[in-house]
Amino acid sequence: MSKAVRKYLIAGNWKMNKNAAEAVDLVKELQLEAGDQFLVSVLVCPPFTALESVAGIIEDSSIHLGAQNMHPEPSGAYTGEVSAEMLRHLFVTFVILGHSERRQYFNETDAFINTKVLAALNGSLKPIVCVGETLEEREAERTLEVVSSQVKGCLEGVPEEKADQLVIAYEPVWAIGTGKTATPEMAQEVHALIRGLLKEQFGEVMAERIRILYGGSMKPDNAYELLSQEDIDGGLIGGASLQARAFLKIMESARALSS
Ligand code: PEP
Repeated sequence: MSKAVRKYLIAGNWKMNKNAAEAVDLVKELQLEAGDQFLVSVLVCPPFTALESVAGIIEDSSIHLGAQNMHPEPSGAYTGEVSAEMLRHLFVTFVILGHSERRQYFNETDAFINTKVLAALNGSLKPIVCVGETLEEREAERTLEVVSSQVKGCLEGVPEEKADQLVIAYEPVWAIGTGKTATPEMAQEVHALIRGLLKEQFGEVMAERIRILYGGSMKPDNAYELLSQEDIDGGLIGGASLQARAFLKIMESARALSS
């Protein structure tokens, strides 16, 4: 089967940047050029506080809305948290889970991320499940072992019929926000490993339908080469997603590879 079964997904993780008014300005700029094209899936993930305002702007466009986190429980005494249902209510369709910053600063484990993945799928959200090794792990040649264990831990118990809702993001921690990027070959090696794990868990046909994104200093000048790899189906973009020009250029690379 070929890459053609998967539509590129270009996703912006805005992290803790942009208030609601700034978010609206940015998304309006994106919408002018990306809002009516369907060749590539485009996703923006603003902070919670800007979701509602951004939802209002993109409702008639092809840009999708995502959140950066959620809690696995549907409601209750979890101060500061939001549930899948609350996000759905704001027209959110994707949610980033297990980002390395959440693993690092909020001690999120694979087991906890797994509960969120299952809750997101139950709540009709598409989880973007982030995995990736640290510099220390790469230097110790433990990349494949670490990523395998993260993928298996985060996806435990995912029902096969819902697996096509999953998105995986391979983000080497040493490449996030550092300007260092994995070479296309390094990234492809890990993406192929992930595809293999998805095949073992969900079967060949399903695994070919699941998108695996690369994240880690993706920029206009390296996007085309990364996206042209066989198992790289898009990008999860931090820094470069905060500037409309840069983000749109990355989207253009994906479009060029799609047509
Ligand atoms: C990210 O945080 O998901 C990310 C990939 O950030 P950056 O593009 O800035 O490296």
